Amino acid sequence: MPNSPPIIGLVGGIGSGKSTVAGILAEQGCLVVDSDQLARQALEQPEIRDRLVSWWGSAILDADGRIDRSKVASIVFSSLDERKRLESLVHPWIEKQRLSLFESAPPKTLALVIDAPLLIEAGLIAQCDAVLYIDTDRETRLARLVKSRNWDEKELARREDSQLPLDDKRSIAHHIVENKGDLQSLTEIVRQVLREIINSHRP
Ligand code: ATP
Repeated sequence: MPNSPPIIGLVGGIGSGKSTVAGILAEQGCLVVDSDQLARQALEQPEIRDRLVSWWGSAILDADGRIDRSKVASIVFSSLDERKRLESLVHPWIEKQRLSLFESAPPKTLALVIDAPLLIEAGLIAQCDAVLYIDTDRETRLARLVKSRNWDEKELARREDSQLPLDDKRSIAHHIVENKGDLQSLTEIVRQVLREIINSHRP
């Protein structure tokens, strides 16, 4: 689309601050699409729910007839085939929603932001004009996650094992956003990077 705002993708380690950066970008006038939220909404769509029940039976529903996400999670985390089957159903729906949200962005939107934990793994990098790597050392991430999510070292390691190595994520990025300080310094860094992206995107 001519004159369309740049698309920014966020990558980084688990708990590095991707959602926090997305929040700062939203405050600055960007439109953020949160893939986790869309994934939750996908499971509420009647056609998707019915398909999942046809695959895995009504035991995946809760007492209100809605998909019980923890039951789906235990199925797809124990079988790669089932995970791929779920993704092939849900990803096109998420993609359609993302595009329609981007198309309905207000005219003054500075940038469009994809906040997707598996941005690279899901092949969304190709859509991005700029990729930001949120750089936060493991010790800091763990300390923040212990505090905010009550996780421990094992929980972080378990989740990290299923993701691409951080060096791979970092090497794909166009900008490194250091998130070792407080929220104020993070905000300053993000504002500066956003300015650079907008300036270099101008025709
Ligand atoms: P996930 O990988 O699980 O999607 P994430 O990369 O989106 O996580 P956030 O949820 O943004 O990470 O941040 C993890 C935690 O660290 C949150 O509680 C957040 O408030 C906190 N946090 C992030 N950046 C900072 C900072 N600069 N100062 C203090 N706390 C921070």
